Amino acid sequence: MKNSTIKHDISKTLINWYQQNKRELPWRDITDPYKIWISEIILQQTRVNQGLSYYLRFVERFPIVSLLAEADEDEVLKYWQGLGYYSRARNLHKASKQVMNDFGGFFPSDFSSVLSLSGIGSYTAAAICSFAYNLPHAVVDGNVYRVLSRLFAIETPIDSGKGKKEFEEVASQLLPVDNAAEHNQAIMEFGALQCVPVSPQCDVCPLSGICLANANGLVDKLPVKSKKTAVDHRYFNYLYIEHNAHTFLQKRTEKDVWQNLYEFPLIESDKLLSVPELFEHERFNSLFENIDNINVLEITNPMKHVLSHRVINVQFITINISELNDKLRNLIQVSFSEIDKYPVSRLMEMFLQQKMV
Ligand code: SF4
Repeated sequence: MKNSTIKHDISKTLINWYQQNKRELPWRDITDPYKIWISEIILQQTRVNQGLSYYLRFVERFPIVSLLAEADEDEVLKYWQGLGYYSRARNLHKASKQVMNDFGGFFPSDFSSVLSLSGIGSYTAAAICSFAYNLPHAVVDGNVYRVLSRLFAIETPIDSGKGKKEFEEVASQLLPVDNAAEHNQAIMEFGALQCVPVSPQCDVCPLSGICLANANGLVDKLPVKSKKTAVDHRYFNYLYIEHNAHTFLQKRTEKDVWQNLYEFPLIESDKLLSVPELFEHERFNSLFENIDNINVLEITNPMKHVLSHRVINVQFITINISELNDKLRNLIQVSFSEIDKYPVSRLMEMFLQQKMV
């Protein structure tokens, strides 16, 4: 972008548009880096409407970084329950301890220190540094990729190394160094509300006169993505075991989906299993070893948890038993009335809500 006047005009137009059209949100027009950080992490992978209530509950319970650092991870995950991508919550918790231990409890105020915190990448660091401290770091999120690719008809794939670099350069050139906070908010909001992915209303867009995608009929073709993500299917057979008004949980400690959340005993297989197949399964037989009466009461319809590159197919099998063995005693035995204290996945939560009514 050689013409600095055009650059200035684009930024000015975006900021004018923002001032007239922005949504009033609790993390707007604040400079508290801690709260900005929480909002940015929640809004990764989550729509504003869904994230808003989580944000409000989260900052009410953990209004300052020290309270988050002191909290038990189970409680932090409980506040995140239903939002998905739980590594975000685990990293928030970890980073809050870093702020306490490495920065004396003060949220760092320079880009490289912010970037050093767990779970913070270049986008989030730029957002925090510009919104909280007005530092001249350009944000490039999905909305910004879309706006820039269309404005300048950039066909470089946004998911390539070359694309990332190119878009970061264009975004930086557009950024007014003295008003980074408002410019960054403006371009992101413009992408979220005006230059939307499908059928944007270009006829009412204040940038339509200079938008190259609009002039060249490329709006529906941009931005370009190169990779098709291979989708991995997994099959979870959860055993909801009833025994004397108790059931059994285990913690997912492996580095995998839903890490550190709680779940019922699980049999993962290459398809969802029928009752006869369950009774033949090694894990099932090992879990119920020496138990005579195993009554399968119910199997739910299959449910799906769809992630960006993974589909988890789940069914819940309700089983009643009248005695215990050592394997079951080694699990976490939880009374029905206490189970909602444990952080669980959204699918587990939905199943439990049905069970408990
Ligand atoms: S004219 Fe259309 S494609 Fe171009 S910036 Fe405006 S809304 Fe986006």
